[in-house]
Amino acid sequence: MKIIHLNENTKNFEKKLLAAVKAIKNGNLVVIPTETVYGISANCFDVSALNKIFLVKNRPYSDPLIVHISRLSQLRNIARYIPWEAKKIIKKFWPGPVSLIFYKNHKLPDIVTSGLNTVCIRMPENEITRKFINLCGVPLAAPSANIFSRVSATDIKHIIKDFKDKKEIEYVIYTGRPKYGVESTIIDCTEYPFKVLRYGALEIEKITKECKIKIVEPKKNLIKKSPGMFKKHYSPIKPTYLTKNLISYIEKLPKNKLRNITFVCKNKTKNIIKKIFKDENISIITYGESFEEITKNLYICLRLAEEINTKTIVVEAVKNVGLGKTIMDRLIKAAENKWV
Ligand code: AMP
Ligand code: MG
Repeated sequence: MKIIHLNENTKNFEKKLLAAVKAIKNGNLVVIPTETVYGISANCFDVSALNKIFLVKNRPYSDPLIVHISRLSQLRNIARYIPWEAKKIIKKFWPGPVSLIFYKNHKLPDIVTSGLNTVCIRMPENEITRKFINLCGVPLAAPSANIFSRVSATDIKHIIKDFKDKKEIEYVIYTGRPKYGVESTIIDCTEYPFKVLRYGALEIEKITKECKIKIVEPKKNLIKKSPGMFKKHYSPIKPTYLTKNLISYIEKLPKNKLRNITFVCKNKTKNIIKKIFKDENISIITYGESFEEITKNLYICLRLAEEINTKTIVVEAVKNVGLGKTIMDRLIKAAENKWV
């Protein structure tokens, strides 16, 4: 696994991508940057390469992949029909962190879609990623670059940790921490009104407002079973719990239990804890303050929390509105809905 370090100021970055393009053309895998999280990519028409994705991630074949495109003209070989309401979303929000589900074109292998007659597609915002797809000459199927059910990778350390001995992955194209740090929003566009299948980096309210279309949200944030949605997901390796009121939880906790836990919370909460419990040695990681900061830092914090020498992780919940719905979706799955 070789790492290609790039950023938007890198001169001649196309040249630096060529070896990785060759890897894709030879049927191997390349870790790609996106504005959401890092992905492990393969040619979406190459069944043997796609198989390698499921193998290295230990991902069940029942969990379909998202296909990443760089130009709208690529849509016709993977999707069958784009409803006009979806064209509005495409016009306003592509390239960007929203994935759309359409009926699939028969040319796309069934392994991409887990045998479904629909396909999930998005156009990433990163210019380097789109250039890479262009150079590959085919759309790339790419799930997140982490072992199945684990916390998604938004930092090179975590990509290396999960995949260092996987020879199927020839290159990692690394451009630093992603802009959003959390997966794309997924909208099912096969029936109108459209349906939210996953909360993500783009708020639903923004889409409905800008496009003036109807998108049905799941009741109480609970997404009805859809392929690839598991109760446990984005999970640290240590037992993880959620709490609505971290300070009162700590107050009730016997002092000798404190050192077994790493707390993940807002900056403000940390400051209060430090004041109230100034004599205690408490392990605290802060994920920021605003929803944007929290989504960006969430996976890094969860990965960090599992590396610290404590037994469990307790995370402060956020309000379930706007981007908070995305944060809570990930946290509830990371903690398998266990609350303290
Ligand atoms: P990720 O693992 O983050 O790349 O996300 C892939 C997710 O997209 C899957 O786990 C599914 O939840 C969703 N997905 C992909 N294709 C489809 C599809 N055809 N129908 C419904 N959901 C899909
Ligand atoms: Mg994933």
